[in-house]
Amino acid sequence: MNINNYFNVAIIGGGISGTSLMYVLAKYSDVGSIALFEKYGEIASVNSNAKSNSQTLHCGDIETNYTFQKAAKVKKTANMLKHYALHHGYNERYIFKFKKMALGVGEEEVAYIKKRYEEFKELYPYMELWDDSRLSELENALTEERNEPIIAMGAMDEYTAVDFGSIAKSFVTNAKGANEDCELFLNHEIRQIKKIGDKFRLDCKNGEYFFSDYVVVDAGAHSLLLAHEMGYGLEYSALPIGGSFFFSNKEVLNSKVYTVQNPKLPFAAVHGDPDIVDGRVRFGPTALALPKLERYRSVHFLDFLESLSPDPEVFEVFYDLVKDDDIRDYIAKNFMYEIPGIRKKLFVKEIKKIVPALTSNDIEYAEGVGGLRPQVIDKINKKLLFGEAKIDKQDGIVFNMTPSPGATSCLGNAYEDAKTVCKYLGIKFKEYDFNKDLVEG
Ligand SMILES: Cc1cc2nc3c(=O)[nH]c(=O)nc-3n(C[C@H](O)[C@H](O)[C@H](O)COP(=O)(O)OP(=O)(O)OC[C@H]3O[C@@H](n4cnc5c(N)ncnc54)[C@H](O)[C@@H]3O)c2cc1C
Repeated sequence: MNINNYFNVAIIGGGISGTSLMYVLAKYSDVGSIALFEKYGEIASVNSNAKSNSQTLHCGDIETNYTFQKAAKVKKTANMLKHYALHHGYNERYIFKFKKMALGVGEEEVAYIKKRYEEFKELYPYMELWDDSRLSELENALTEERNEPIIAMGAMDEYTAVDFGSIAKSFVTNAKGANEDCELFLNHEIRQIKKIGDKFRLDCKNGEYFFSDYVVVDAGAHSLLLAHEMGYGLEYSALPIGGSFFFSNKEVLNSKVYTVQNPKLPFAAVHGDPDIVDGRVRFGPTALALPKLERYRSVHFLDFLESLSPDPEVFEVFYDLVKDDDIRDYIAKNFMYEIPGIRKKLFVKEIKKIVPALTSNDIEYAEGVGGLRPQVIDKINKKLLFGEAKIDKQDGIVFNMTPSPGATSCLGNAYEDAKTVCKYLGIKFKEYDFNKDLVEG
């Protein structure tokens, strides 16, 4: 075996998941050599890019689609990312403080927010309850031209917005600083993975090939495709859900404003976020099933079909979704939000819940902004899964599917995978140092 193309661990995918794993292995384990393969010429050019996602550090305090248990879990992993960023002095460069809140509109939602505040304040002691007069001081646009009662549970001074793309780049730099045997291969698309004896052979589109003892696939919507090609994860399908945004041309908000989730709907309700790159306020994301694996690049339709693997169980899941009136209405609305000519008029109705005075002339479709969430369908239990999914048959290869909040939980996922890698290879994981730096902070 050529020593130059053999690595202890190969990671496929240079988004925030793959790069965070490279960092955790380099800094907190005795793994010898690590290779990271990314098919494009840049790190984090797909979903982890600041333009592709909502840039929110999902701590669970304002996300009303999370249960108490899920909130506690994401709080822990969000803190890891915050501690990493602060430790490296990235505050106000890649991680930012904004006011943030979950807004309840109308009697029913006001009662809901009050109840949720009481239940969640133990987990988030910094949260405050803001009535309409306090809200008009903090964010006048929320109360102007509004007739219904409103309330919010929010926080004044927390790190809440992240440029996940820049953080991903920093993971690579800091990984190389911690272990000089870390290699980054840009423009290297892995086409095939084969297990040969106790090694894996990875074949690239450009004809090069590599070997490794362990493989972690962090290839976003492509992870399941690579798994299926090896005969793994056949019990799963991936349904790619595109998310688009609209910019407000008026300066309306200085806070992240999340709304109350309709529990029947599979994706988070729209929110308003000051964009940390563009500077304007962004509303969204929408949710639209798309027959492709990347939002803004033409990717083979056959790859989409292969990772969807549309058999009867998948259609049963679709049928269960569309037989509900609320979900049918939601799918139709989200489809129309993409149609030029009518989309601004329709979408503004949705965000008037946040800023009642906005008109369609105040917003514009955010061209080229947004990404794609690879939502996983569990064919055995005939269910659409809402969070991340992992395929690990404990034979030296792991595949990760990472819809939201995958960027927030990157270090939590990397921790799990790093421990699995170390156990498999019989190598030490520096648990104490990881906890001291990233869990305790
Ligand atoms: C609209 C929207 C809003 C979101 N908002 C948030 C948010 O506010 N907060 C949050 O925490 N999360 C959010 N998410 C989710 C978050 O963006 C993702 O969970 C996260 O970016 C996933 O990172 P990743 O590295 O797993 O995947 P990606 O960023 O998609 O990276 C995968 C990488 O693998 C590469 N790749 C693919 N195939 C191959 C191959 N064969 N060989 C080599 N390389 C390959 C790709 O080029 C890509 O660079 C949002 C997602 C969307 C779509």
